Amino acid sequence: MEQKILRQAESYRDEAVNFLREIIAIASPVGREGAVVERIKEEMVQGGYDEVKVDPLGNLLGRIGSGERILAIDGHCDTVEVGNPRLWKIDPFEGDLREGIVFGRGASDQKGGVVSAVYAGKIIKELGIPDDMTLWVAVSVLEEGYEGFNWEYIIKEDRIVPQAVILTEPTDMKISIGHKGRADVRVQTAGHSSHGSRPDLGVNAIYKMMPIVQQIEQLDATLPGSDLLGKASITVTEIRSTSPNLNAVPDSAQIFIDRRLTEGETVSGAVEQLKNLSSVKAAQGRVEVAQFEVKSYTGLRSKTTSSYNTWWMEPEHPLVQSAVETYEALFDDKAALRTWDFSTNGVTTKGKYNIPTIGLGPGDDKYAHTPEDQVPVEHLVKAMAFYAAFLYRWKV
Ligand SMILES: [Zn+2]
Repeated sequence: MEQKILRQAESYRDEAVNFLREIIAIASPVGREGAVVERIKEEMVQGGYDEVKVDPLGNLLGRIGSGERILAIDGHCDTVEVGNPRLWKIDPFEGDLREGIVFGRGASDQKGGVVSAVYAGKIIKELGIPDDMTLWVAVSVLEEGYEGFNWEYIIKEDRIVPQAVILTEPTDMKISIGHKGRADVRVQTAGHSSHGSRPDLGVNAIYKMMPIVQQIEQLDATLPGSDLLGKASITVTEIRSTSPNLNAVPDSAQIFIDRRLTEGETVSGAVEQLKNLSSVKAAQGRVEVAQFEVKSYTGLRSKTTSSYNTWWMEPEHPLVQSAVETYEALFDDKAALRTWDFSTNGVTTKGKYNIPTIGLGPGDDKYAHTPEDQVPVEHLVKAMAFYAAFLYRWKV
């Protein structure tokens, strides 16, 4: 079976590269994925998927088979912006191909993974999916900045609840088994305005905030670590204040905090920890997890809370073991386990709904979000073979 899948993946090499170059050329920054979704949808339809649909949030969902065991392969099609264009040596939307490497915005994070997943579906369609199985290839939207929000929608609204999920974010072809959680937390202090010439008559909200900022800086070093996921962290990322005028004492101040959570930590625990800081208590600071409004390209508006759970899989879990077996049967090489530094849709699939989840994706994640964004063609072909072969080795 593995040899057959490898041959098929190989036969799709050029087609997959061209498809990737094409979808890199269709810019799809977060919230503006409509055009790229249309193009990928075409590819699924041509690939013979049994059902292809776009949900009201804009996620593209391709199905093969209709059995009870449901496997989902997820890849997000939104990207971060280009940033300073002068830092790019190549055109970010050219889909440049040089010496077996495709360059451009989203090549590694993660249009490469999307291409491999969509083509794995084609291979599975050709080989025939076992009667008891369903494969959903999910091309999700709004991942950058709101990871997992897409899967909240797929699970709750589309009512697609897989028994296992493979994320196709870049892993340099290693098997990822988790990452830290995170939360954007806001702390507010209230003051009382007075004329800038009479500060003694007012309460300065910025002064009330200063000891809080200092204590947060000190808190970072005391946060716990884990062998698997690394050390938790906290940092202040933004500070704002309001005042009737530059000649007035500010009546409010707020800071935003990036909090990364390691094994054993929760978002609510991290909020409690902040509320209990002596500086926060003294200033009667208000601590809350930040909320954002998300607008999808379909026009749907929703509120989301910036709360993303830590998740990881035990290396002995049958899903991880199926992935290791698949990798080793295909590539005659030892599979390597790892975790991600960044956050993914796994915060919802595993972190919130406890659906066993792993990751394997083409491209080295060190290029994600950089002007050197790139993915090796070899990885595209190998990842395609991996996803297809995995389905036949998957043990629930
Ligand atoms: Zn990503």
